[in-house]
Amino acid sequence: MRILSGIQPSGEPHIGNYFGAMRQHVELQERGEAIFFLADYHSMTTIRDAAERRRFTLELALDYLACGLDPKRAILYRQSDLPELCELAWILSTVTPMGLLERAHSYKDKIAAGVPVYHGLLAYPVLMAADILIYNPDIVPVGQDQKQHLEMTRDIAGAFNHTYGREVFKLPEAMILEEVAVVPGTDGRKMSKSYANTIRMFAPEAELKKAVMGIVTDSTPVDRPKDTATALFQLWSLFATPAEREALCARARAGGLGYGEVKKDLLARIWGYFAPLRERRAELARHKGDVEDALADGVRRARALAQPVLDAARDAAGLGPAPGGSLPEP
Ligand code: ATP
Ligand code: MG
Repeated sequence: MRILSGIQPSGEPHIGNYFGAMRQHVELQERGEAIFFLADYHSMTTIRDAAERRRFTLELALDYLACGLDPKRAILYRQSDLPELCELAWILSTVTPMGLLERAHSYKDKIAAGVPVYHGLLAYPVLMAADILIYNPDIVPVGQDQKQHLEMTRDIAGAFNHTYGREVFKLPEAMILEEVAVVPGTDGRKMSKSYANTIRMFAPEAELKKAVMGIVTDSTPVDRPKDTATALFQLWSLFATPAEREALCARARAGGLGYGEVKKDLLARIWGYFAPLRERRAELARHKGDVEDALADGVRRARALAQPVLDAARDAAGLGPAPGGSLPEP
């Protein structure tokens, strides 16, 4: 099974990203031929600072490698190291109806919000189709929110095949990833960079302490029973075994358990949980050349898979010389 996943370089990851996405991504490498790309082309629709994009992209590679992504096993590459994707995106854009793109949620949401939109945002699903179709994968794992984009990819693939009368592209099937529990942020809402309520997985100890101590709680006195359906207990539970969870919930129900105690324990657990990853990340950061080597190897392997598909698309569309170099009959 060939599995493909793109990840956006958008800043420092938080524990919601880890439990909601990164951990699952890394597990996928055990389930088939996994291909991951750092979506720096896609980031151009939001990030406008060149240095920031480079930094975020490299940091993202470090984050994933620290989380256990094995670049010998999975293919990890930087999207812009494979500019063939832009060629395929152009080819596909010529068979993509405007109406299809105008129906995309990501585009409609921005239009509805009245913010300026650029062609890149409208064209985003075409580049995404190229990202996928260039490997002719059977299955693409996606979250619920990306179902529409995969439908569009299937439509675009079908349109190309129909236009040029050749089955160049397989229509990929979506594998909907099971819903992962939403990790709450320090203010009780969904943890999200946009809400500034995050606990960053690689934060230094002082920052981590400030974030954990700042988790909202109510004013129930220590001796009273506590509600365990709250952000603090949910976050704590991420780092505990079922038996530990049972024991803590029993203490919370009985009264006598203070929020401060739970926070201190949570802080120690987060620090300990991410310690090996933090160390691996620091080690990798000292050898950035090795990371670039891994990305170079990744794109070499990606290109070997992509080239035959791109060649077939070019040939079907009549681009370049005829195969074998002979001129077509007049
Ligand atoms: P933004 O505020 O810019 O949307 P974010 O913090 O929500 O940023 P994303 O980049 O949107 O992070 O998400 C990256 C991945 O992490 C996605 O797969 C998303 O589903 C997952 N994710 C983000 N926040 C959470 C959360 N609180 N709980 C579980 N998964 C999450
Ligand atoms: Mg988000």
